[in-house]
Amino acid sequence: MPIPVPLFLTMLGILGMLLGSFLNVVVYRLPRGESIVHPPSRCPQCGHRLRPWENIPVLSWLILRGRCHACGVRISFRYPALELLTAALTVLVAWELGWELRLIPALLLTWALLALTVIDLETQLLPDRITKPGILVGLLLNGTALVHPGLALVSPQEAVAGVVLGYGSLWLLAAGYHRWSGRHGMGGGDLKLLAMIGAWLGWQAVFLTLFIAALSGGVVAMAYVLAGKGRDYAMPFGPYLALGGWLMLLWPQQIIAGYLHWLGAG
Ligand SMILES: [Zn+2]
Repeated sequence: MPIPVPLFLTMLGILGMLLGSFLNVVVYRLPRGESIVHPPSRCPQCGHRLRPWENIPVLSWLILRGRCHACGVRISFRYPALELLTAALTVLVAWELGWELRLIPALLLTWALLALTVIDLETQLLPDRITKPGILVGLLLNGTALVHPGLALVSPQEAVAGVVLGYGSLWLLAAGYHRWSGRHGMGGGDLKLLAMIGAWLGWQAVFLTLFIAALSGGVVAMAYVLAGKGRDYAMPFGPYLALGGWLMLLWPQQIIAGYLHWLGAG
């Protein structure tokens, strides 16, 4: 029996909020080298251990009016914000892809890209602890196409080529930039992130991911320069790669068509 669409999307929205709550833990603890499962959530100020009712995504923050129940310290709006954003993206991905097996890899990739984006914005790092397993899981998921086609986003061959092209293309760009300017422009994390996107979405998606990243990153960099911020400001590139990969996950046909149209018009 098919599940009614509103119920299905509501369930996924709740799942997204719970995942967002987990992502809050990941983006805080992972760059600090802490375990993401232990200890249980605590108030960063007083160490008060959150009871279950204080740990409900979004709701608890609203009920407690953004304060710790024990010490009253203000709890940043970014916690419920990330929970709401995760829920919104989860529902959007499900809405676009529908109730299919490949919704599972699509959501896993969405959550991983979101975690990497937040971590890169805050710390200028893309942790190996996400990108390396991310490459492996992407290859394994697409490898299941050898047995059953349902779960894979692309063929295993396209996924392997995606890793090589993703890592290689950025490596060449970074090496060329270094030669030309004598400076290091990109971190190794960016290379692994694009390799990861290639592992999940195949080599075809790598080029347009890079194109979208360069375009959107370029616009933001330009805005920074116009706003008078120095050119020495090191802008993280990971969020733009993540954005490009995520858009290629959801709307590959439309983006390819738009790109070809733009080439023809130019
Ligand atoms: Zn507290």
